[in-house]
Amino acid sequence: MSVALANLSGRSVVVRGERAVDVERASGGRFGADPMSALASWEVFVSWAGGLGDDAFVQPIDATRLGPPVPRPRKVFGIGVNYRAHAEEAKMELPKQPMVFTKFPSCLVGPTADVVLSSDTVDWEVELVVVIGRETRRVAAERALACVAGYCIGQDVSDRRMQFADKPPQFSLGKSLDTFGPIGPAMVTLDGLRDPNDLAIRCEVDGAVMQDGRTSDMIFAVPELIAFLSARIPLEAGDLIFTGTPAGVGSTRTPRRYLKPGELVTSSIEGLGRMANRCIESIT
Ligand code: ZN
Repeated sequence: MSVALANLSGRSVVVRGERAVDVERASGGRFGADPMSALASWEVFVSWAGGLGDDAFVQPIDATRLGPPVPRPRKVFGIGVNYRAHAEEAKMELPKQPMVFTKFPSCLVGPTADVVLSSDTVDWEVELVVVIGRETRRVAAERALACVAGYCIGQDVSDRRMQFADKPPQFSLGKSLDTFGPIGPAMVTLDGLRDPNDLAIRCEVDGAVMQDGRTSDMIFAVPELIAFLSARIPLEAGDLIFTGTPAGVGSTRTPRRYLKPGELVTSSIEGLGRMANRCIESIT
């Protein structure tokens, strides 16, 4: 059975439908309250969580208390220009190998957290986020999905002025500002998805559809990204990969369109639910 793991008020919970069960309490302490702890023994955890009866799910979910399902990954990778239509709109050549940057983990927030606008050039990028489930080195693409704990939705929020202030650009800096990494609402095991390589992905700003694509449009699909990264850097349980954004970001529109205080960014992916993040003005 598919398992959805979330972070409710800082505690690890399994979600089924509209209700949750507290992992530490329901397991009698076998698995910890920390949302990171299930990832340390993911397969054992999934087998336990999948066996929970529906009657265990009694806790209502207050969405405003959802934190990032993976709050403290050791590494957060971003992949630039990984959808064909986005490469075209950005007038960038199709990369011959994945374009990798870092999102520093301090930018991660939950699926309903406010996004603090650092300037008047902050842009949206809805993305499929991969959560690695075990130590992974030099895995072949054919076996790479077996190393995935689950998927969640992500927003690779980007301050374009900071990103493109000079040459070479500052991808890691302009995409890692505080609150620039909403993820959630839960991480979902792949057996809950119709086809993990072809999911509808969408972003709306105040109800207007800005991005509406499919993950099958990726230039480098998830298995290829994992093979590429794990051939170079050991991947660890909890590491995240933001896999790139489809067409429709604000900086490539005419005229350019950026986020304004008060606007609501809604991100959704088939089978993974939705996130809704409000933009607020920076107080500094
Ligand atoms: Zn991105």
